[in-house]
Amino acid sequence: MPVYEYRCGKCEKSFEATQSVHARVEDTECPFCHAQEATRLLSSFASTIKGDHKPGFAELKAKSMINERMDKFAKLPPLNAKRNVPQPNTSSDSNPIPGAGPDAGM
Ligand SMILES: [Zn+2]
Repeated sequence: MPVYEYRCGKCEKSFEATQSVHARVEDTECPFCHAQEATRLLSSFASTIKGDHKPGFAELKAKSMINERMDKFAKLPPLNAKRNVPQPNTSSDSNPIPGAGPDAGM
């Protein structure tokens, strides 16, 4: 869920609230004075990237970065599994000529 930044209209403190996209501003309660007079502010990301009017751009970017990491994590287990495969080579029974196997090119 996206994080929205609000400023309370009563105590004028700003706070962040994690809400669904469909949450209404009127329903947002100030965590300090519990007044429902909050105003939604632009996220700090959006104010940093000037000229980008797409909402949630930073979030999408972060999500794609997470997906990349997840991809790398997902690729790790197969790599480990492949490393386990050459290990049976240590038993020279399957390799009649040591050093002449497919691993000799390494
Ligand atoms: Zn307040």
